[in-house]
Amino acid sequence: MDLKTPDYVNDNPEQNDLWDKKYLLFLSGITAVFDGFKALDLENLGILHNELRVVIGPNGAGKSTMCDVITGKTRPTTGTVWFDGTEITKKKEDEIVRMGIGRKFQTPTVYDSLSVYENMELSLPGSKSVFKTLIAQNTKVERDRIMHLLERVRLADDADTEARYLSHGQRQWLAISSLILSQPRLLLVDEPAAGLTDAETELTGELLLELKKEHTLIVIEHDMDFVRQLDSRVTVLCEGRSMAEGPLEQVKNNPEVIEAYLGR
Ligand code: ADP
Ligand code: MG
Repeated sequence: MDLKTPDYVNDNPEQNDLWDKKYLLFLSGITAVFDGFKALDLENLGILHNELRVVIGPNGAGKSTMCDVITGKTRPTTGTVWFDGTEITKKKEDEIVRMGIGRKFQTPTVYDSLSVYENMELSLPGSKSVFKTLIAQNTKVERDRIMHLLERVRLADDADTEARYLSHGQRQWLAISSLILSQPRLLLVDEPAAGLTDAETELTGELLLELKKEHTLIVIEHDMDFVRQLDSRVTVLCEGRSMAEGPLEQVKNNPEVIEAYLGR
């Protein structure tokens, strides 16, 4: 099985018993229809194990809806979602989280009145409530893991700082770092660079590239410089459809893409 040259279009999970070894996530025949409006219409979309896939597309293209379908927030109208060989189309959100799919929303979930460290503690596997987390003693291994992750995003010195004092970029990194504590196999990251300074954007890119070594990632983004930095396979969504897929340099020269998105 050649992971470098996947045959994206012809893969049919029902006809190919190797697909689940190759893809961590596979969407097949997915549509999401809201009041007669087709927000999503994806024929086949496969994400390889340890791939970092960037999904770009204009506002309203269906990017967030795609994340909603993968995470069980929205039930697709038709089609199937497979995760690591298991169909997850009809599973509940919390079940999908436990199976190993984590999501960072456009507006990150961070508790303002808790410190950076306490925010991380809340995401330790097994901690379900603020109360339970605050009275529990972390093991040394847990503390080390938290501090290691905070160092990576340059937040270690702010471990005791209340999250309300963090910059927008620092909040994004805290949200991503706390997601990683639960060791998801697939990470969905919705617009991590939105509203960040250039320096923060660059550090975010470095962080995502580093995460790619241990995780499979889908990054939703529209900042082109940032997408270039990620140097990964790009899927262009437009009006719910996958309009093009390939390296950025290739898709950005696709006339259909230029007209629909980049040329606007
Ligand atoms: P993107 O994230 O690419 O900007 P979205 O996935 O948020 O786009 O939205 C795609 C389209 O689907 C939009 O026209 C949006 O209004 C519509 N949509 C998304 N979710 C719902 C919903 N729950 N109910 C009705 N319409 C929705
Ligand atoms: Mg969106």
